[in-house]
Amino acid sequence: MTRKQKAEQPEEPAEDVAEAETEKRKANAPEAQDAAEALTQEQWLAQGDPGSKAARLAALAERASLCVACDLARTRTNVVFGEGNPEAPLVLIGEGPGQHEDATGRPFVGRSGMLLDACLRENGMTRKHIYICNVVRCRACVLEAGRLKNRPPTPDEAAACSPWLEQTLGTIQPLVILCLGAPSANAIIHKGFKIMSERGQWFESKYCRYAMASLHPAYILRQQGEAYDAARRALVADIAAARQKVIEAKREPKLTLF
Ligand code: URA
Repeated sequence: MTRKQKAEQPEEPAEDVAEAETEKRKANAPEAQDAAEALTQEQWLAQGDPGSKAARLAALAERASLCVACDLARTRTNVVFGEGNPEAPLVLIGEGPGQHEDATGRPFVGRSGMLLDACLRENGMTRKHIYICNVVRCRACVLEAGRLKNRPPTPDEAAACSPWLEQTLGTIQPLVILCLGAPSANAIIHKGFKIMSERGQWFESKYCRYAMASLHPAYILRQQGEAYDAARRALVADIAAARQKVIEAKREPKLTLF
């Protein structure tokens, strides 16, 4: 496989990532705190300030917890619906939950999530400023040598899960979506998305006026040395651009007919 082909490979959930990141993770241990700060839908409701979006998302999450639309229901521990701020103007969307997400029911709590939290923090943001979810809400995995290994969700699994994505975004109605990786960009922006050449560009999406894709944290974690630094900088820069786009979009007149 050529370098280019390798670079365009679909990015897999974090837990397939080689152990090369151990040192970086140790150095960044406090990153785990941000995911801990993010709120589940139930916690938002319990805070006494649910708002209608929180209530609708909580009801959706409840229904999704019973979903058997595809075979991932057979092996999942939890449906990982999504969490964060239901009123957030910015939604981040990944590919699908991995082992830790499946075990906890929470998105991006593994190594990818730790890196993502660090990149958010470099932009002065935490999970409280965003809503975060995945294209596919159940872990896709395969049994290998007696162990469940993550695998990319199939197009059929993504299609079976799309009503949850549609309803999540229809409820939140974000101003800006930041897709993490090509599979997310395929679902939100356009099919056949080329992450290496199209990342960092703004697109209109049926889900919001401004959508952009960045590198998936799991992909970044697979890089070494300067390639790692450059990929990480790209994610930080794309989050900054998304943050700025939210500020600009809030200033734009609302496009309503009545
Ligand atoms: N990778 C994803 O795409 N989503 C998660 O929730 C975790 C890892």
